[in-house]
Amino acid sequence: MTDKNKNLFELSQKFIPGGVNSPVRAFSSVGGTPIFFKKGLGSRLWDENNKEYIDYINSWGPMILGHAHPEVIEVVKEIAKNSLSFGAPTSKELDMAEMLVRLVPSMEQVRLVSSGTEATMSAIRVARGFTSRDRIVKFEGCYHGHADALLVKAGSGALTFGQPSSAGVPADVAKHTHTLPFNDTEALEKCFTEMGNEIACVIIEPIVGNMNLILPDIKFLKKLRQLCTQHSTILIFDEVMTGFRVALGGAQELYGVTPDMTTLGKVIGGGLPVGAFGGKKEIMQKLAPLGPVYQAGTLSGNPVAVAAGLKTLELIQKPNFYQQLSLTTKNLVDGMTEAASKNGIKFSARSVGGMFGLYFRESPPNSFDEIMESDRAKFNKFFHSMLKQGIYFGPSAFEAGFVSAAHTEKDINETIKASHKAFESLND
Ligand SMILES: *Cc1c(COP(=O)(O)O)cnc(C)c1O
Repeated sequence: MTDKNKNLFELSQKFIPGGVNSPVRAFSSVGGTPIFFKKGLGSRLWDENNKEYIDYINSWGPMILGHAHPEVIEVVKEIAKNSLSFGAPTSKELDMAEMLVRLVPSMEQVRLVSSGTEATMSAIRVARGFTSRDRIVKFEGCYHGHADALLVKAGSGALTFGQPSSAGVPADVAKHTHTLPFNDTEALEKCFTEMGNEIACVIIEPIVGNMNLILPDIKFLKKLRQLCTQHSTILIFDEVMTGFRVALGGAQELYGVTPDMTTLGKVIGGGLPVGAFGGKKEIMQKLAPLGPVYQAGTLSGNPVAVAAGLKTLELIQKPNFYQQLSLTTKNLVDGMTEAASKNGIKFSARSVGGMFGLYFRESPPNSFDEIMESDRAKFNKFFHSMLKQGIYFGPSAFEAGFVSAAHTEKDINETIKASHKAFESLND
């Protein structure tokens, strides 16, 4: 049988740089050929060779109800009949804004955009406009999309100028961004002592889903909140991944720490492109057309995308939705941890809501340095063994995994069984 994935990947590389429209899809970290999918239903995916998979990426989070949920698909079809876009206000945007303000503790007003990148970029601009300050602070291992100001790594010392982490980002832009170690209260305090009154905003993934899965030290989050308040610095929680994923009100609800602004994406579009940023009314009122901070979008609040998102948000508010999702996810990581232990593999895992982390190290990591110490070679071998058995995990040791409400006990048991085999093969 010819491998259609291989053929498509070869051809794609002729016309698309690296053959993909977002780098992690290329399997560079794990090696091998990316899978080209043609169909998804519930927890399952089918590739171009008609091979079936249980999906633990879920489009990197959005498909929290599983693929092709009938009610979501139905509303998309209905709305699409009345045109795909107007570039003018619609009542659905109001419904979405009202729902976000009701469900996300920090949101008093919100503006819709079309991606997480746009949400964080715009939130930072309005934070700078509101405070009339230029400096921003972020944390090592957190990802906030690919705006210039955020593709920056720490300089030689935490308090020196940031360095671009991508070619094409001017040093003059990067120098305003300071990158601190995550969960390091001491470094945070030092930074605020040095320059607190010049920092426009601190942006953070309150639960980090972009260096595998790292949980915050609650004392660190509380100290961050206190320092931002003390220095009139705007605290932005980037909940593009964790929003509606770890709990209905996001990580801010889970930890009881309320930021000044929040960015959203992924789940709120239900699989179509929707992002959002919002927070205190006095900050959001700085945006055009009311205030001096410019921000816009031709397809912002797109009716079809918003309808898919709204239907998704409506369905996840069913009683016990998060209890069930958390339980399914916990059963998965507990079962895999046991399977690893039976095979004598150094492995640990954790979950929060419908997100999980798998680590090839003794205990779950709490920092960027600790996650970097995990055994990448073992992960890569494990990944390919699982893939062969029809289990689709993120193609990198540094990505979080996602479970949907469509994942059944049978799916979880099948996955744990496959993991036994994969762990066993690591001893060969
Ligand atoms: C995915 C993600 C983004 C970027 O969102 P895009 O829609 O890919 O632009 C930003 N922040 C976090 C925390 C994310 O997980």
